[in-house]
Amino acid sequence: MSTIKFGPAGLGPVKDAISNLEEFHRLGLKACEIAFTYGAYIKTKEDASVIGKVAKKLEIALSIHAPYYINLNSKEPEKIEASKKRILGCCEIGHWLGAKRVVFHPGFYSNMKSDEASIKIKENIVEMMTVIKKNKWDIELCPEIMGKVNVFGSIDEIADLVKETGCGFCIDFAHVLARYNEHKFEEIKKAFPQKKWHAHFSGIEYNEKGERHHKPTETKEWKNLLKFLKELDKDIVIICESPDPVGDSVAGKEIWKEIE
Ligand SMILES: [Zn+2]
Repeated sequence: MSTIKFGPAGLGPVKDAISNLEEFHRLGLKACEIAFTYGAYIKTKEDASVIGKVAKKLEIALSIHAPYYINLNSKEPEKIEASKKRILGCCEIGHWLGAKRVVFHPGFYSNMKSDEASIKIKENIVEMMTVIKKNKWDIELCPEIMGKVNVFGSIDEIADLVKETGCGFCIDFAHVLARYNEHKFEEIKKAFPQKKWHAHFSGIEYNEKGERHHKPTETKEWKNLLKFLKELDKDIVIICESPDPVGDSVAGKEIWKEIE
């Protein structure tokens, strides 16, 4: 049977980080993804170390969501460089935080076919992994499955990046539903044989182009996902990205207990 750590997307501003972690702990949450989506707002090694120590003491697994402004397959080399710099910046702060994963949106097709885009993105992931190794940062790059059909990041594309580079991955179950109009549980199970899974979840509004926006997580959606995960034998972190990430994480944790 799988084990699951539930937790919210978002730690809040630096001044509230400790009290928020204490609140998450009180609620029984065991994970938190820090949203650097609009920039890495924890700036100093000191702040990161203090927050990281408290998270460790409270047994909350930290991860980071890298900025949205990333495209590892841009036609403009300087945009690729800037993207790598942003991701590596997250890795450095993540290292001081004791975060083990940096989740990021890999990029766009930029008028290329899937396999051409994939070659370019792999190259850039490998380069970043070299820098991470050189700096001895204990952190994993996790490209995410994307919810829009015209954005790089299908189940197969992400699984292929993992296979070819040895990087980590983030399975966003809401994005999968939006991208395929199906849950694709069996395909996901086959594509990611690894023991450790990092996942995102929430309700989602979508149309034929895919994701429109995240919405509150309905109980039946949680149940559907958790029943599937229960049958597996994985160590899973599920980050909830709904408009009420803390409340919905607690709800997921309670539903998980019932179906255990
Ligand atoms: Zn994301």
